[in-house]
Amino acid sequence: MKQGVYLDDDDSQREIYKGLLSDENIDFSSTVIPSSMASLISDIAEISPDIVVMDYRLDGTRHPEWHNDFKAGGVAQVLRDKFVESPESDIPLVLLSTEANIQSLFVPDKTSHDLFDIWFLKNELHEDSPIGREIVLPKLAALVDGYELIKREVSGDDPAILAPGLLALEKEEYLELQPDGLKPVLLNSDGLPERAHVVARQIFQNVVKHSGILLDRDGLRARLGLTVESFERLCQSVSFEELRYEGVFSNGWERYWKHRYEQWEANSFDVLLGSLTGEKRALLLEEKFDVQCEPAVSRWSKSSSEYFSFACHVCRQPTEQRHSVAVFEPRLLPFMERRRVCYDCVETETEMRRMHIRVSETDEATVDAIRDERLPKPTEGEE
Ligand SMILES: [Zn+2]
Repeated sequence: MKQGVYLDDDDSQREIYKGLLSDENIDFSSTVIPSSMASLISDIAEISPDIVVMDYRLDGTRHPEWHNDFKAGGVAQVLRDKFVESPESDIPLVLLSTEANIQSLFVPDKTSHDLFDIWFLKNELHEDSPIGREIVLPKLAALVDGYELIKREVSGDDPAILAPGLLALEKEEYLELQPDGLKPVLLNSDGLPERAHVVARQIFQNVVKHSGILLDRDGLRARLGLTVESFERLCQSVSFEELRYEGVFSNGWERYWKHRYEQWEANSFDVLLGSLTGEKRALLLEEKFDVQCEPAVSRWSKSSSEYFSFACHVCRQPTEQRHSVAVFEPRLLPFMERRRVCYDCVETETEMRRMHIRVSETDEATVDAIRDERLPKPTEGEE
């Protein structure tokens, strides 16, 4: 059983979330009271947990003997500094807070969200949430397992074998990828392995969460250009399991190798699916696998005669290049695909704002045209 610590200055909140966070993998029952930074850090050191989850506001409770003038970012900074001295105790740090507090972490001059591996909203752990504990808790367990694997691999002597070990690939298959592009994710400028939480963050942000080497389920469906129902039906006949990524964090995030998908595509068809419209792809898939296939429909043009190629970064629906804009992403590594947002989500705007998405400079004029209705949304049946 792994040990977790949950930090919250409010007694009743702490008890509630210690309970909601605990499951058969991680036990959050121990209590650390954030009465001062020094006592909190020494209590955590004593427990030596596998993961620390914290509320954003730790300074809300006033107590005459407490010196709790700090928030989660301050605690995370002190813990990360301590892990530099003892790399073996480097563990995932997770923020669990309210929407407003999480949003305040994204104010541009605050970098403290970089100190956390991931964040969740408190209400996502409640029964009435569409997300729920059964989605959140396996991700916490996957973070703990991922850190353990990373610590084991980075302590080895040969950085060259680091990547295949973490990604669970045979060396030959690993060399088919673009291993040079992956190097800065794993090694520092001296060619030595980075610290565990740096490797963890880079793999998580650049490889697992960002399409490029891996595809998520929505990305896979977009490449096939199918509706959700047809995609699920196809998955029963086609063994996409063989494309599954089994490396670090794979038990919390379902991903598929893009190069294996492309190999499957080449083995199955004489043409590239991407060169066909959604309609033609559906016919081809139906014929080949004898499964009823409905093509996806563009949210903008309402047509299936589109060349669907990726999942919109906001709504996750299959989207075509010509009705989408590029996201501003200055720090893309060579193997990462630039994220794109469909015209429909540009028009709606709310989710883009909430996700703090900036559009690439080259597409700013298109965004203005959509929002000023100079580029109106086609009505049904119109191109
Ligand atoms: Zn969208």
